[in-house]
Amino acid sequence: MKYSRLQQDSAVWEVVKKEEERQNHELELIASENYVSPAVLEAMATVLTNKYSEGYAGKRYYGGNAVIDEMENLAIERAKKLFEAEHVNVQPLSGSPANAAVYMAFLNPGDKVLGLRLDHGGHLSHGHKVNFSGRLYNFVQYGVNPVTGRIDMDEVRAIALKEKPKMIVAGFSAYSREIDWQKFKDIADEIGAYTFADIAHIAGLIAAKQIKNPVPIFDVVSTTTHKTLRGPRGAIIMCKEKFAKQVDMAVFPGMQGGPHDHITAAKAIAFGEALRPEFKEYARQIILNAQAMAEEFIRLGYRIVSGGTDNHLFILDLSDKGLAGKEAEQVLEKIGLSVSRSTIPNDPNPPLNPSGIRIGTPAVTTRGLKEKEILAVAGYIDEALRNKDDQETLDVIKKRVQDLCVKFPIPTK
Ligand SMILES: *Cc1c(COP(=O)(O)O)cnc(C)c1O
Repeated sequence: MKYSRLQQDSAVWEVVKKEEERQNHELELIASENYVSPAVLEAMATVLTNKYSEGYAGKRYYGGNAVIDEMENLAIERAKKLFEAEHVNVQPLSGSPANAAVYMAFLNPGDKVLGLRLDHGGHLSHGHKVNFSGRLYNFVQYGVNPVTGRIDMDEVRAIALKEKPKMIVAGFSAYSREIDWQKFKDIADEIGAYTFADIAHIAGLIAAKQIKNPVPIFDVVSTTTHKTLRGPRGAIIMCKEKFAKQVDMAVFPGMQGGPHDHITAAKAIAFGEALRPEFKEYARQIILNAQAMAEEFIRLGYRIVSGGTDNHLFILDLSDKGLAGKEAEQVLEKIGLSVSRSTIPNDPNPPLNPSGIRIGTPAVTTRGLKEKEILAVAGYIDEALRNKDDQETLDVIKKRVQDLCVKFPIPTK
């Protein structure tokens, strides 16, 4: 990219350039990351960043917002179409603040909420004790079945009937199976609980209609915009029209001050891109790639949590491979592959060095890798993990990864 003014501050520019080079020459297998389009990148560098727009279209607390109103409405209309949503708030600054606003809209501090355990694939903001969610609300948690690695809906129902939470949360950071949204809704209806889906990871796959959409079923749904959806860092909240006012009030003035209008523009661009037919193809390929890679690992003798994947990610269980997640992450970094360490259900190891790694295909699919290359990458990972102390072998593999990066550059069109 050309950044002629940025280059005048050499201290900042040197670092940006290094990161750009790192991204160009390494393969990104972190399930929550992606490469945005040049149009999304350009939108984030527009003068919209200069504006203060507290409030909502037609009801701002600052003057000069008629133009910004147009932009925010455009983003809202596109998001509504993309997710079949009745109401959308495009102002949340990121996924965790969006979830804070959702809780604030529907709950009082101390209210009981049911969510998935973090170490079984949930998210910090679903009630972990170190997070605001776990400190402000009374979370009870469900897990995945230790044998199948899947959410057991009978268990969810049993806990829900016993605990009678005011809200049930579904939607996860490290779960590779389709979620039965309707079953969650049926359970919530039995006890009169609100339903909240957090689709931060899978939003792009849902927008592309490759997996089922909870928005028409659930009371409220949040998502980040920067994961499979391939937009700027940020989030949106979608809800039924009858909850629109309380959700909007919770975002502003409840949680946030002014929205980031340049990011709203970038969200509108990303939603526009996701509405195109090519995005369906992209999302389909993400899943095909994840499934091909998971199958290849099984063939190579690895265990995968739940035995496979329906989406963009899977968890590789390394507990019988003589190394844990942190070391695997470091070995793979040496060959130019980024992955994230991950817990496996009922992990005997501590969270900082859990027994697995999480692998995701959204970013490499953006680069254009298909099954053939993905199988090669699985082979590199296996070879590197088996030769973790052999620098020569690691160097050879690193060269192959770099060749792949040159052949499949990050799209600049
Ligand atoms: C990533 C993620 C979030 C948090 O998003 P941030 O933008 O990092 O705050 C929330 N929920 C889930 C399920 C996520 O995967």
